[in-house]
Amino acid sequence: MPELPEVETTRRGIAPYIEGQTVRRVIIRQPRLRWPVPENLDQILKGRRIQAVCRRAKYLLLATDAGTLLLHLGMSGSLRIIANGQTAGKHDHIDFIFDDNIILRFNDPRRFGAVLWTSVPAEQHPLLKNLGPEPLLADFSGELLYKLSRNKKMAVKSFIMDSHIVVGVGNIYANEALFMAGIHPARQAGKIALSRYQKLADCIRMILHQAIAQGGTTLRDFVNEAGKPGYFQQQLNVYGRTGLPCPRCRQALKEIRLSNRSTVFCGDCQR
Ligand code: ZN
Repeated sequence: MPELPEVETTRRGIAPYIEGQTVRRVIIRQPRLRWPVPENLDQILKGRRIQAVCRRAKYLLLATDAGTLLLHLGMSGSLRIIANGQTAGKHDHIDFIFDDNIILRFNDPRRFGAVLWTSVPAEQHPLLKNLGPEPLLADFSGELLYKLSRNKKMAVKSFIMDSHIVVGVGNIYANEALFMAGIHPARQAGKIALSRYQKLADCIRMILHQAIAQGGTTLRDFVNEAGKPGYFQQQLNVYGRTGLPCPRCRQALKEIRLSNRSTVFCGDCQR
């Protein structure tokens, strides 16, 4: 499933090709995604220039002077830049054709992705307006985690995965950040000291930055005709390594379920 680093990599992969370009036509082959694709998207976007390609949480925002196109990759979605004239495959649901003859093609086998239009400022859209801060921007910090967690009895892992607290910390990254910070994933969020939250915030940032840097090696795949934009495999310390030795102390890693998500940790290194 594309996580924040993949979405950011996608943004960096497609932006140089479509920023400043004008939409000539939109072809919708399959409007039934997670929510119906607006029927009149072609009329809305035709002749409009893409002013910027931005990201908020896991949404890509294509800004025009009339409003914003919201794209979400769901479970299996991907975007590719291709030359006009290439035959569409079974799961190539939408083509955005630009004036310079390139196509932004949306592919999504499982159709949990979304393509929506909003004419109000994107940050006021119902899907975006209640989201917490971006983990890689300055308004996210250990102080914020500390402040929001007081009196919270939930497990710290569930707390940092709550998008009202901070966006983009998916299950893999939550496991890895807690290991790096030495915090037990089941510890009550409200009982963790400020200094530990400061370390955790640093670790979250570091892990996401690493993943984005790794994704950078896949950027050319966005214009690769045969391949699909890669969802890159990161070097992981704990996630998917239940029973294997802890990279730090060699004890076997343990697994529990928290909020119904696989949670792997070291019982010695994480307290
Ligand atoms: Zn350990």
